[in-house]
Amino acid sequence: MIRMPLPWLVFTALFIFLAGILFTWICYEISRRRREARQFHSWTRCPICAFQYKANLEVRIQKCPQCGSKNENIPIKPI
Ligand SMILES: [Zn+2]
Repeated sequence: MIRMPLPWLVFTALFIFLAGILFTWICYEISRRRREARQFHSWTRCPICAFQYKANLEVRIQKCPQCGSKNENIPIKPI
């Protein structure tokens, strides 16, 4: 049996609890960023009118459906 004073016991339990919350938060944030990156992989933004549209990744230069300018496919980076 491990003997420790009561304040240390409370501190240790609180530390383990907060470390668990921090670990869960970091794992959730990593999975959220990966999900957003996958979601926006095939989307592009027109540099002229800032319209976002789903792009065909096989075609390098596409026409913007909003303003008609020809744009190079540059994937949108998640924030
Ligand atoms: Zn446009």
